[in-house]
Amino acid sequence: MSGVGKGIATSSIGKILQARGLRVTAFKIDPYINVDAGTMNPTEHGEVFVLADGYETDQDMGNYERFLNIELDRGNYMTTGLVYKTVIEKERNLEYHGKCVQVVPHIPMEVISRIKKAAKKISADVAIIEIGGTVGEYENILFLEAVRMMKIENPEDVLTVMVSYVPAPSKIGEMKTKPTQHAVRTLNGTGIQPEIIVARAERPLDEKRKEKIAVFCSVRQEDVISAPDVESIYDVPLNFEKDNLSGILLKKLKLRGKKQNGGLKEWKKSVRRVKNASNKTRIGIVGKYFRTGDFVLSDAYISVIEAIKHAAGSVNSKAVLTWIDSTDFEENPEKLSELKRYNGIIIPGGFGSRGIEGKIAVIRFCRENNIPYFGLCYGMQLMIIEYARNVLGMEGAHTTEVNSKTPYPVIDIMPEQKENMRKKNYGATMRLGQYEAKLVPDTLAYQAYGRDKITERHRHRYEVNPQYVNDIKKSGLVFSASSPNGVLMEIAELPRKQHSFFLATQFHPEFQSSLLFPHPLFVAFLKACKEKR
Ligand code: GLN
Repeated sequence: MSGVGKGIATSSIGKILQARGLRVTAFKIDPYINVDAGTMNPTEHGEVFVLADGYETDQDMGNYERFLNIELDRGNYMTTGLVYKTVIEKERNLEYHGKCVQVVPHIPMEVISRIKKAAKKISADVAIIEIGGTVGEYENILFLEAVRMMKIENPEDVLTVMVSYVPAPSKIGEMKTKPTQHAVRTLNGTGIQPEIIVARAERPLDEKRKEKIAVFCSVRQEDVISAPDVESIYDVPLNFEKDNLSGILLKKLKLRGKKQNGGLKEWKKSVRRVKNASNKTRIGIVGKYFRTGDFVLSDAYISVIEAIKHAAGSVNSKAVLTWIDSTDFEENPEKLSELKRYNGIIIPGGFGSRGIEGKIAVIRFCRENNIPYFGLCYGMQLMIIEYARNVLGMEGAHTTEVNSKTPYPVIDIMPEQKENMRKKNYGATMRLGQYEAKLVPDTLAYQAYGRDKITERHRHRYEVNPQYVNDIKKSGLVFSASSPNGVLMEIAELPRKQHSFFLATQFHPEFQSSLLFPHPLFVAFLKACKEKR
């Protein structure tokens, strides 16, 4: 079932095996036709996570990187669309040597070869493969077929784990294992018998329920792992170890690992710090990808949320997050004064025109009222627009993304991007992935990083227009980082004397933050928020 925690289970399995000294890699398979996640609206599928090599992938890849502190690349991700595209291209290139190319076996074979290649590339001891979707649906059947084929080929090296939800309906007052039993039957129909069952539930599973799942689903009782709801996702590896999951995995895969104690020490310390922080920092996140029907969904900004949590933990504070819809300020400008409730405001990445004027009004309010502000990508572009309009007096200044006829195009499309737009080449054509930037000494950014060169991940088509850089600089805003050739602006900030924290980045720092290594800019922002309280 989607949202049940397969991504966190995959990441946590990786973490506990890493803690036993093994080299681990992780792999996500998404069953949709999109070739990558780049063209999908975040309200449809959550955040688009950008890898260092620029590949636009699923948010679970972010979880793997954050838990495992490894850098994954495009070889670690695939979709149905990508697999079919590759097989068809190979067929056109005569790579099947005249054979009739069929859905089975050629599609699963392509899947298997991709998995093996990714694992081999880093000489992994264990490759953990997460198959998206739910057992029994039509879309992921060929990936399950790939698992079945791999298992026949190497029975001792392939192990299947099923993550299943065990509901406890409030009117019944007891946990029900029947949905899990049915799920296993359905999985059996594809020729796969799960060897470990991770039972997701509100509460820990009792022995009675474990026994039931064991009997009806043909697993040993100790191979049923209790995975209750937790306060912090970073508790999950620790919980898994309560049921000795790493020990079970090592034994089943006939792998030797280090002793269990010690490997998770740093992790445990960091989790405790995040959980036990007593003072609260209130952060408002102003965006637009929150609403889905009657529900509020924060999945679209998952890396931002996690980066805030990591940094908050490192300054011994607990971040309390509030979702703020920027369109509210367009309808009711008097609501802006409510922003004073927050210790800091973040405007994350975004596209298009909806809610833009509201965001610009928020930035102005933060600037004029000394509220710490941190802008990410679109959040930097809008900061430049606000500054141009209200400090430099450039009335109507805008990004050409929203107004192509603005008299002051302070944010403009990059020349090579114009060509992409003209040809309607939208997929995987933005400025994507890791780029180097140089920092300017004696700036907030420089202080935060403590070095003069950085590499950060990008995902945008527009840039600060070089024609306006000098005017903006003269009026007091500092560009504290730029591309190595000095043409593209990477960080903008107001000096500390003028504002407690008014800084934004053209890149996405949130993609490189983790529990063990919080991102320096998020840490600096949280420090400023904490001091402002
Ligand atoms: N829409 C802006 C651009 O394409 C910003 C993108 C973002 O925030 N990721 O440049």
